[in-house]
Amino acid sequence: MKKIFLLMGLLLLGNNVLAFDVVYPAQNDVIINANSTFFIGSSNKPLKINGQNIPLHPTGAFAYVVNLNTGANTFVLQSDDEKKVFVITRPDIKSKASNPAVFLPYKEKKYFYVTTEQAPLRSTPVDAGINRLAHLQRNIELVVDGEQSGFYRVLLGKNKYGWISKSNVKAFENFSVNPATLFGYEYVDSKEFYTFIFHLDKRVPFEMVEGDTFLMKFYNVKEQPDDTFVMKVPVKDTLTKRQLIGYSGEYKGNDFILKIRKPILAHSIRPLHNIKITIDPGHGGSENGAVACLGNKEKDINLSIAKLVEEELKKRGAKVTMTRKNDIYVGLKDRVDIANTVDSVVLISIHGNALPDGQDPNKNRGTSIYYYYPQARPLADMIMDTVVSEIGVPNDKVRQGSLAVVRNTNAISLLIEVSYLINPEDNANLINPEFQKQYAKAIADSLEKYFDNK
Ligand SMILES: [Zn+2]
Repeated sequence: MKKIFLLMGLLLLGNNVLAFDVVYPAQNDVIINANSTFFIGSSNKPLKINGQNIPLHPTGAFAYVVNLNTGANTFVLQSDDEKKVFVITRPDIKSKASNPAVFLPYKEKKYFYVTTEQAPLRSTPVDAGINRLAHLQRNIELVVDGEQSGFYRVLLGKNKYGWISKSNVKAFENFSVNPATLFGYEYVDSKEFYTFIFHLDKRVPFEMVEGDTFLMKFYNVKEQPDDTFVMKVPVKDTLTKRQLIGYSGEYKGNDFILKIRKPILAHSIRPLHNIKITIDPGHGGSENGAVACLGNKEKDINLSIAKLVEEELKKRGAKVTMTRKNDIYVGLKDRVDIANTVDSVVLISIHGNALPDGQDPNKNRGTSIYYYYPQARPLADMIMDTVVSEIGVPNDKVRQGSLAVVRNTNAISLLIEVSYLINPEDNANLINPEFQKQYAKAIADSLEKYFDNK
């Protein structure tokens, strides 16, 4: 008996050493609603899928696209001594003609107030995309004239509309919202900010619009053209060649405080001297992020690159704050709060990329950089140019995207997808200490260029 157990133990051990690994799909019986998916993993010996050879990267990494028919699809992965069977079911979903979204106008205006902090006021009745006009605070009073797809249509002055989710507001009972009175504003000067304090008799919807001239708008205000108050603040700075580098606006009571960061005159020799920068290694703790072909976890790669960026920036005199320094979970809001608490001018989140089913990991490589607010675009372009020219990373585009960490106006906020974890070539780069170092240096070089006034 003992001998048999020993033999079985050896066989199992042998299998483990020689095994090929599949990191995606994560299980062998999954439902995927797409016309293709991919097998991601690694193998140290030739591997076939349904009799076809899977091309292996010199590291052993592979990404192999398979088409899916509706119903059950069986895939047999086989090396000379091991076999794994995957059944992937593609559901048969008949495309139902969904009811077209119709605007339902109200006969009489209705009155609401905002019940959640940071409620998105949108330009379209869609819960996604680049359509945020403002983030409204509690108790802002709203006039509504209709609804569509779970949103109320909000009157902004006389000729403009916004949309707010029904779940973010409550109706006033027997109370109609009249236009507010704006008593005036004060200007407060400080070392780092231009601060304006607007005195109103109630909270009204507002909007801050970026541009060479920054626009502060308050809607539903008495004695203003179209019930709209507009203040223009010129922010294009000829000396620093920059437009905006962070701003914020919020109600304190019925006063609205607008803070616009002043242009930064950088140190002439060390442009990053004393510049406050927050580096945010994506994911962490219970949240692994994506998993690479070779099994590396995104959270670990993000952290090692972020630490190298921290080192490079500190060498150049920057004041760096890290949202995490080890393998812990940090919420998205907390990451932004950390940057804003220390008044960072720049917030950079470091990530590794992956793809949804239906796409080809072999055809996607390199860096993508996400921003939400136009003020962050010039730095995004600068970092892209630098990583492409200094280390030859493929340019996978600067993109505007509605991601929580980049929807922060206080700092120039960016999210860098360094490279694709599920692309074998990119995977090799991402775990290469030399690549990580060069990449961190390229980010620091870009920031130095960005703040250099010369
Ligand atoms: Zn990520």
